[in-house]
Amino acid sequence: MSDYIDCHYARTRADPSQRPFLDGTIAAGTVVIGGGLAGLTVALELARAGHPVVLLEGRRIGWGASGRNGGFCGPGYALGYDGMARIAGPETARELITLSREGVEYVAGNLASFGMKVDPARRGHISARRVPARAELARYRDKMAAIGIELRVQSVEETRALLKSRLYYESVREPTLFAMQPLDYALAMAREIERLGGKVFENTPALSTGRFGASHLVATPRGKVSAHHLVVCTGGYTGRLVPALRRAMLPIATYAMASEPNDALLDEAIATPLCISDDRRAGDYYRRTSDGRLIWGGRITARTRDPNDLAALLRRDMMEVYPQLGALKIECAWSGLMAYARHYMPQVGRLQEGLWYCTAFGGHGLNTTAAAGRLIAAAIAEGDDRYHLFAPFGLAWNGGPFGPAAAQLTYWRMQLQDWWAERGVAQKMTGTASN
Ligand SMILES: Cc1cc2nc3c(=O)[nH]c(=O)nc-3n(C[C@H](O)[C@H](O)[C@H](O)COP(=O)(O)OP(=O)(O)OC[C@H]3O[C@@H](n4cnc5c(N)ncnc54)[C@H](O)[C@@H]3O)c2cc1C
Repeated sequence: MSDYIDCHYARTRADPSQRPFLDGTIAAGTVVIGGGLAGLTVALELARAGHPVVLLEGRRIGWGASGRNGGFCGPGYALGYDGMARIAGPETARELITLSREGVEYVAGNLASFGMKVDPARRGHISARRVPARAELARYRDKMAAIGIELRVQSVEETRALLKSRLYYESVREPTLFAMQPLDYALAMAREIERLGGKVFENTPALSTGRFGASHLVATPRGKVSAHHLVVCTGGYTGRLVPALRRAMLPIATYAMASEPNDALLDEAIATPLCISDDRRAGDYYRRTSDGRLIWGGRITARTRDPNDLAALLRRDMMEVYPQLGALKIECAWSGLMAYARHYMPQVGRLQEGLWYCTAFGGHGLNTTAAAGRLIAAAIAEGDDRYHLFAPFGLAWNGGPFGPAAAQLTYWRMQLQDWWAERGVAQKMTGTASN
């Protein structure tokens, strides 16, 4: 039997209950494979529509990326607006942005209905620059305003009053993003699916899939499910169950850690309850929790094996930004896998009659699993065709054996670009100081 990895959310989860594994043969309208936020959203929306649904999770509900992420739920996708517009055209890109914002409010609404209401005083996100960028940020703010995203540029002084680091310059503030305990949310969704009559199985990996007439059949170690629809939501843990999906994604690892509770020390560094990140491609992101901890995340790599001392690695990143946090004790550090498509956008669609996929949300999955999961459920329950919005992105080949190396090289190139830009600023500052 699988259990959760040791991470802050598993340690603090409110619901310790365990679900049964599937033992026997059952029939359903839809079988969903994968109990992360994508699969749970599809299953919850189907259950809400009165559609008979079964969800199979190979390990525990929220065991994958969904139960061990940074907890930031904000609008957008891993690919920015310009990239989306280039591939799908500006109109589709705008519709997708609207969908991603609806995803944020959908999660906030679910949390409220589960008794986990988001505190309005903790809503908002600060994206800080590690190089001066006032004019560039003002242009960016105006451009985002045109597509309905409201941002405010904060000066260096304003930024450093909140984030007491000499590394930061200007920042932009977005008002709708919020943080949550993602594993508690996943578990609450599973309870709600069950309350509405759906069935949720843990420790039940789907081993193979096949067809019997119009039905899809899924075999598990001790059982079978037959259903008219099969939805694959296996994220960064996608195996060879449906080869076309495995060929189209790369598992990418990323890391996070949680500190001891220590508000007094954190006050010396971070004077805001909002979520914070820097704007580098794989930059730092962090937030103070309501129980006095710091959750800090960062780094991405195509190497899926954990480095030896993950906590020390992330602590070094934290200390570079906030040397005043030297005495902060780290309670645990962990990693997780995200699924990335080459185009960075989610893969959402239909492979053949009744066979759906809803995966590859990258590092921006908390709102997008909600947005896409709702579309797939609406397609199954009502014949809604809005999932076609994701069609321009498709199941592009992941590069096969060269995919991970190419992804790693891209990350290193971006790191080098960031380092070069910051080094330029540091040299200018030294020059100014010695003049
Ligand atoms: C450390 C970390 C930090 C992150 N921070 C953020 C953040 O702050 N904000 C944000 O928006 N996104 C963040 N992300 C990304 C986000 O967590 C993911 O995009 C999202 O959770 C993906 O959800 P999912 O349901 O597609 O996949 P997962 O949550 O990974 O779920 C897939 C599930 O499928 C199951 N599975 C796989 N194969 C089978 C099978 N054959 N049979 C049955 N079950 C199977 C797995 O066990 C797993 O539970 C982060 C990710 C990580 C790892």
